[in-house]
Amino acid sequence: MHSNDELVDYLVRTGIITNKDVERAMRKVDRKMFVLDEYKDYAYADTPLPIYANQTISAPHMVAMMSQYLDVRPGMKILEIGSGSGYQAAILAELVGRDGKIFTVERHAKLVEMSRKNLMKWRNIKVILGNGAKGLPDEAPFDRIMVTCAARTIPEDLVKQLKNNGKMVVPVGPFYLQKLLLIEKKNNNINVTDLHCDCVFVPLINEG
Ligand code: SAH
Repeated sequence: MHSNDELVDYLVRTGIITNKDVERAMRKVDRKMFVLDEYKDYAYADTPLPIYANQTISAPHMVAMMSQYLDVRPGMKILEIGSGSGYQAAILAELVGRDGKIFTVERHAKLVEMSRKNLMKWRNIKVILGNGAKGLPDEAPFDRIMVTCAARTIPEDLVKQLKNNGKMVVPVGPFYLQKLLLIEKKNNNINVTDLHCDCVFVPLINEG
């Protein structure tokens, strides 16, 4: 695929993108701006790609699916764990619009620098250096939380930082294979749905 539109066309044609808002957001955010120079030729392939610090920018189909499962509406306040290249944060920023806000936490300083640079034109995103496993108590609660690294178990500190009627999408499991889970908070009940999507994310490191 030779352009961002061709990549999005492919995701629509194969039935991955079903939501018009997510389609629009993915057309607006050019993936090429988020990959390293040496991988620009592969920016529009539906595959993860290396970034700095042995981390990866997720495959576009995974970004599309997680964005759809998160059920984002304009004006929402969202927490992302694992900024990486900033690509997923940009898609979320398009979905929440000017009245919404994205907080994204990254533990690698080099990736904080990369994502801040890539995200300069989005005024509704804040990139924070730190351990996202603990969430962001000062900014909580959030309408939505997206975890883009693999948790061993459901991250309870993050569940606590969800609003009532809030939702979180998180890959949970061992390093070699995870299940994508949707966690919904309703009147202080926690509902966990297995989205039946196997995935391989880099681990969420709970240190520091
Ligand atoms: N969403 C990114 C891809 C993320 S890859 C994108 O669109 O490009 C997963 C990221 O999670 C890595 O950058 C890794 O450094 C980060 N990470 C792992 N554990 C973390 C933690 N405890 N807190 C914050 N970031 C973490």
